[in-house]
Amino acid sequence: MIRNKFLFIYIISFTFLLSNTAFADKNLESLLAVLFTQTSAEMKATQLQTFQTATNLLDDALKDSSWTAIPNSFPKDKPPAIILDVDETVLDNSFYNARNIIDETNYPENWSDWVFEENAKKIPGSLEFLKIAQSYGIKIFYVTNRAAEYETATRNNLKKLNYPFDDDEDVLLMKGEKGWESSKESRRNLIARNYRVLMIFGDNFIDFVEVSATSAKQRKNRVEEYSDYWGEKWFMLPNPVYGYWERSLYEFQNISEEQRTKKRLELLEIN
Ligand SMILES: [Mg+2]
Repeated sequence: MIRNKFLFIYIISFTFLLSNTAFADKNLESLLAVLFTQTSAEMKATQLQTFQTATNLLDDALKDSSWTAIPNSFPKDKPPAIILDVDETVLDNSFYNARNIIDETNYPENWSDWVFEENAKKIPGSLEFLKIAQSYGIKIFYVTNRAAEYETATRNNLKKLNYPFDDDEDVLLMKGEKGWESSKESRRNLIARNYRVLMIFGDNFIDFVEVSATSAKQRKNRVEEYSDYWGEKWFMLPNPVYGYWERSLYEFQNISEEQRTKKRLELLEIN
């Protein structure tokens, strides 16, 4: 009975959403991306494939003392570590994105409420991989652009899901903590000072290397510069819902929703 009532409310919400097109562009355009993330066999298979590939490479990475995921570093005798982004790399926040569609809200509305719920779910394959890495004595670091005020909630969420989380040093490096900004480079370098970073995992180019590219085309061109890293030392998870890939469509400018839609259409390639 309650279920039916909720279903009815959802259908009414959607009917309203569809009729309210002036507002709904962004949310409606997110709908398929969120559904792909939450429902597709293809998304899950890609995530499992990523962490399975990395698991198979752990032995080689440990044995080869010149193996490093940080370009131009020579870490030889340092103990091994792995760096992971948090959102959409180990934690699945698609429920937050789904709520935005239903509630007709947009990020960052209600983001704090979602983070403080500490209820994000596991990205498939990530926990199993990290448990194996941990059993090999590899240190696990989480480098996230969640704001520093979310450190406790983020730690709680990760621990609740049983992710490896050492307490002997800071393994959760937030944006805004110790003056760290959106660029993750200084945090990667800080970890690399004491560790040999074997692998990096993320869903955004900046999780791996600082790229100054602003347009989508420039970003895409720069991927090939690191062809030796992808699938061996760097592992990209798909995120069709949000990310710099989208912001680069507007060259990181704050423009109106109408202008954004126009830009998106302009960027379609037809041959
Ligand atoms: Mg992320």
